[in-house]
Amino acid sequence: MTDDHDDAAPTVGELIPPDRTLMGPGPSDVHPRVLRAMSTPLVGHLDPSFIEMMDEVQELLRYTFRTGNRWTIPVSGTGSASMEAAIGNLVRPGDTMLVPTNGYFGGRMAEMARRAGGEVVEVDAPWGEPLDPDDVTDALTAHDPDVFGFVHAETSTGALQTDVPALTEAAHDQGALVIADCVTSIAGVELRVDDWGIDVAYAGPQKALSCPPGASPLTLNDRAMEHVLNRDEPARSWYLDLSLLEGYWGDERSYHHTAPITNVYAIREALRLVAEEGIEARWERHRHVAGALRAGLGAMGLEPAAPEEYWLPTLNTVAVPEGVDDGTVISRLLDEHDVEIAGGLGDLAGDVFRIGCMGHSARPGNVMELLGALGTVLDDEGADVDPAAGLATARERLA
Ligand SMILES: *Cc1c(COP(=O)(O)O)cnc(C)c1O
Repeated sequence: MTDDHDDAAPTVGELIPPDRTLMGPGPSDVHPRVLRAMSTPLVGHLDPSFIEMMDEVQELLRYTFRTGNRWTIPVSGTGSASMEAAIGNLVRPGDTMLVPTNGYFGGRMAEMARRAGGEVVEVDAPWGEPLDPDDVTDALTAHDPDVFGFVHAETSTGALQTDVPALTEAAHDQGALVIADCVTSIAGVELRVDDWGIDVAYAGPQKALSCPPGASPLTLNDRAMEHVLNRDEPARSWYLDLSLLEGYWGDERSYHHTAPITNVYAIREALRLVAEEGIEARWERHRHVAGALRAGLGAMGLEPAAPEEYWLPTLNTVAVPEGVDDGTVISRLLDEHDVEIAGGLGDLAGDVFRIGCMGHSARPGNVMELLGALGTVLDDEGADVDPAAGLATARERLA
């Protein structure tokens, strides 16, 4: 076959991305210090200075996860890479994994477990609700799984999984290892890997860590790592095989693949910001700022999809008002106000707006900007909303 390509070099303009305010389900606004870290010179991935940075990143990640786990690393890739590293290494061919049905990401867990050669069984809960520990116990008894996965912060619905220790205890009583999806909870809502008995937690950098996607947190306790190192058959992915990555992130520091140096710089700076703020103060800031957002949305006349009891500060879901097209509102916010939010996924498509409040985006100015822009567009689209009441309420809460 021949291709009759044009020999002329393509003319592509200078890169000038629009200046957006990111209030969707991720990525979130990146702190200027993180952007600055990313424009510093590269060193080699085995350079002694980089080895030192790796140690620092690991130490900062342990602090952020609230864990003492030795096996705490940034996985090369987005949150789905750390997710696949967790599931693809823990689940052996023929193993059974119990996954939830209460949101989009439980479905992704199931798909990854199947590709790892596992059998998938489910614990049911409606979209938008957390798992009930009794249902988890029943499913554990019925299926006797090797691995149990759950989503701590379900970005597709805005529901927080409450009572995590009850879930991990039930799983351990049944002899199952626990994997927690902490992509939208890390550094945004209370998360205590060790105290809560989570064996493996994976996360992402571009949600409440406010770091560009590219290096994604993962932590495993010794029991989980032993399970990985004792596999009869290697993990199906060479790239994400933790027994090989151990050589690079463990004591040997031997080559496996070239670390995404710039992304490691970025996450180091993002995690340094977490340590400076203090992890508990950071959780509290999210509650405070996102609380004002939630109250403002409510005062405007929008109905929150998640009740206070399992409200997820990092991702606020509200019903699309009567007579309004969600896609039109989302495009107008972006085109006319440079503000990004998202619509519903899966079972909630067309029914909800998803409004993030994560990391550097969890600031009073962002909340006021979002409420002002959303109120203006909804009013213009004929929705029955009171934009001024939304702004006044949020302003009061933030004062
Ligand atoms: C975003 C997200 C992921 C996937 O992360 P990517 O960075 O998009 O690959 C997984 N789980 C949850 C809960 C998420 O919100």
